[in-house]
Amino acid sequence: MFCPFCGHAETKVIDSRLVAEGNQVRRRRECASCGERFTTFEAAELMMPRVIKSNGSRQPFDEDKLRSGLVRALEKRPVNAEQTDALMARIVHRLRATGERELPTVIVGETVMDELRELDDVAYVRFASVYRSFEDISEFSQEIDRLKRGKRGGKLRSKSKRKRDRE
Ligand SMILES: [Zn+2]
Repeated sequence: MFCPFCGHAETKVIDSRLVAEGNQVRRRRECASCGERFTTFEAAELMMPRVIKSNGSRQPFDEDKLRSGLVRALEKRPVNAEQTDALMARIVHRLRATGERELPTVIVGETVMDELRELDDVAYVRFASVYRSFEDISEFSQEIDRLKRGKRGGKLRSKSKRKRDRE
């Protein structure tokens, strides 16, 4: 970066250390032109993207809302609190890993459903039915049929197969 004092393009790092429990790098720099010293901090950008609703409005990602939605979907299912936490963490990780600052609500929903389907079919259908608010009841029964078909084979279909089915 340019020197904040004189705008010179060349600065030299004279000290570098980890701070914030290793989550940031603090660098002491010296301008090659005016000799002024300044400090920079470097951190990975792991911002939660904002959600673009279908009406075009932007909202901050609401973790509490997602969690309560998941808990409702997982009610009376053989999934413990630890698995629910891990599910939340995987969803949050995937959304952050997109590196996008804003994501359409559809992408968020698909990510949630994708992870939920891996964990529990019933919870997946519950969540999907609310989330997509299945305009057409046949769409809902198709989804259930699809899950039944998957079960009849005696083993779960692979992730890549599922992905192909959706495309
Ligand atoms: Zn300078």
